[in-house]
Amino acid sequence: MKIIMYHYIRDFKKTKYKNIKGLDVREFLNQVKYLKSKFNIISPEEVKWIIKNKKSFKKNDCWLTFDDGYIDHYKYVLPILNKYKINGSFYPPVNTTLQKIILDVNKIHFVLDRVKDKENLINKIGLFYNHHKKKKWISFSKLLLSIKLKKRFDDKNTAIIKFLLQQYLPKNMKKKIINDLFKRYVSISITKFSRKLYMNLGHLKELIHNGNEIGMHSYDHDRLNFMNYSQQNYEISKTINFWKKNKIIDKDFSYCYPYGSYNSNTLRILKKTNCIIGLTTKVSRVDLKKYKKFELPRFDTNDFPK
Ligand SMILES: [Zn+2]
Repeated sequence: MKIIMYHYIRDFKKTKYKNIKGLDVREFLNQVKYLKSKFNIISPEEVKWIIKNKKSFKKNDCWLTFDDGYIDHYKYVLPILNKYKINGSFYPPVNTTLQKIILDVNKIHFVLDRVKDKENLINKIGLFYNHHKKKKWISFSKLLLSIKLKKRFDDKNTAIIKFLLQQYLPKNMKKKIINDLFKRYVSISITKFSRKLYMNLGHLKELIHNGNEIGMHSYDHDRLNFMNYSQQNYEISKTINFWKKNKIIDKDFSYCYPYGSYNSNTLRILKKTNCIIGLTTKVSRVDLKKYKKFELPRFDTNDFPK
């Protein structure tokens, strides 16, 4: 079985953000047609049934998963799924559903879309870093030299910017830089932008009504493996409680780890809940003899023709 992971699926003819790395809705349509001809696209219900009953997947089974709760999934993906009578699983973080924030990871994407000169952007980050760094920290130029990145889909400068703003820099510094850049280059109205970017509870209920699954993707879309046991426990229970209270999940559900980030504490916590599947970003075919059900690997849409 192959699980396929999707993020942005946009109508690039209609958006001014032409450089966002994402799949055009026409490419998605082509990919669905391709997958329909080569694979057996199974529904989230079937996936759960197979896992719960300890059956095995067939080699050409395939499961579609959509991360981050973009409104484009409702606008463009849902009609295509309905047309081809297929279903998938959607993973919105709770916070985006409330449409009051924009995930830092998305802010970075839109800043990268607006700013052509990536080196200049790195320099701007460097100025901020050197100005605010503590004495014992290494200088920005040394820091840049020390960065070695394995990148699958990004050019070098983009990969560096993402590494600095998504991982390396201290939390508060990251937040401050990302917010400054977003306000400067993209939008000053967070709520307005958020409402245009993410699905709300109404959209999610319609996805469910059409046979799709809403799964967990945490509350704040933070890396679970950066948190200790009790922090993770808080984050995970807060997430589950929210979706339960809003009747989005009832009993069995799947959990998709933001950034594919999890550790043994995550697994210990989830095993005490009604979670039956965990999704990572490891790239491989699913073989239930090789992969545990809480650590299933996924392919990216870019690994398939479009
Ligand atoms: Zn995500």
